Amino acid sequence: MLPKNRLFTPGPTPLLPAAQNAMAAFTAHHRTADFKALFSRVITDLRDFIGTSNDVLVIASSGTGVMEGAVSNLTSPGDPVLVLTAGKFGERWRDLARAFGCRVEVVDKPYGDTFSVEEVAAKLTRDTRVVYLQATESSTGTRHDLKGIAELVRRRADDALLVVDAITGLGTTELDVDGWGIDVIIGGSQKALMIPPGLAYCALSERAWKRMVTATNPRYYFDFRKERKAAAKGETAYTPATSLVAALGAALDFIRQLGNGDLAAGRKLLVDNAELAAEMTRAGVGALGLELFSVSPAAALTAVTSPAGVDSGKIVKEFRDRFSAVVSNGQGEMKGKLFRIAHIGYYDYLDTIGILGALEHVLAAVSNRPVEYGCALRAAQQVFQRSRTRELAEIAGAKN
Ligand SMILES: *Cc1c(COP(=O)(O)O)cnc(C)c1O
Repeated sequence: MLPKNRLFTPGPTPLLPAAQNAMAAFTAHHRTADFKALFSRVITDLRDFIGTSNDVLVIASSGTGVMEGAVSNLTSPGDPVLVLTAGKFGERWRDLARAFGCRVEVVDKPYGDTFSVEEVAAKLTRDTRVVYLQATESSTGTRHDLKGIAELVRRRADDALLVVDAITGLGTTELDVDGWGIDVIIGGSQKALMIPPGLAYCALSERAWKRMVTATNPRYYFDFRKERKAAAKGETAYTPATSLVAALGAALDFIRQLGNGDLAAGRKLLVDNAELAAEMTRAGVGALGLELFSVSPAAALTAVTSPAGVDSGKIVKEFRDRFSAVVSNGQGEMKGKLFRIAHIGYYDYLDTIGILGALEHVLAAVSNRPVEYGCALRAAQQVFQRSRTRELAEIAGAKN
């Protein structure tokens, strides 16, 4: 059949057509009233999307740039910090904190695992200055217990900042940023916001802003206080990625429309959509006799363990060659052992059913086991039929 390219990767994700059009049409210079109005609106809307009353920054960068900023702006050399890691992105926090001379304590769990509140409590001390973790670990498809961990940090170490990489968590998971006391939450444009890579954003609490006054690590491009000052005037410290900001404006409009004019309601719908797609996918995968890689699967993506004796690279290649569908291999030491199907952002019922139908053929091609065609689809259909959010998913589908 025709090759119709589709991304099922946990970033970049499929693009929203309205955002692509907004990007293509945008020409304003960044030091104009037009751009300032757009940028101010985007920042206000992002606050609703994140669900916070804290100040928001948008910076031209990949997500990792703002992760780095969340280390350089908030720490001094020798600061004791606690990193929770169970995958590639957790390791990124560890390496960043080391690069800036922090004294790094880790809760280090195997890939696919998560950490209990007790395990975190055992490593958290009165001296801990910052706790770094992911909301969802994209390398393993794991959802961490952010709520429980946040509650622990706020109860036990009131001076510690809680910094969350929610780059795949935002828009796929319900997070009560202010209620749970999250000091820094970080997102990226190429995930649930349905636009290309190139923007990172974050929201910072007053406690975090205060820490920046005394933190001595060097920073220049990612100087958050400089960006905050500029953002208050509808500007950025350096040349912004203007066309991406235009795309972001259109994406936030789309999310607001999903919520019938209420951006927070639209975000809820986006989250429910990812939850349902993930649940359908898990059911389909299970019906095929495949195992989930994670003990605590996220709605952002589903990581599936490759069947015994099959390199997951073959599965990824088969998806691409036969169905023009891009799914992700494992990263680093997990390469060849798992494949990942994302549900972040602009996915609908047909995408979900389609990838499961393709998976049945892919599995038949790469393994020696017989596949009962339709079994993954049937399981997914049953989930869809049962879902309490069915009506919401249909509204989302109708508005695409
Ligand atoms: C995508 C992603 C990042 C950021 O990666 P960049 O390539 O720097 O944009 C960070 N953390 C998680 C959990 C991610 O999924």
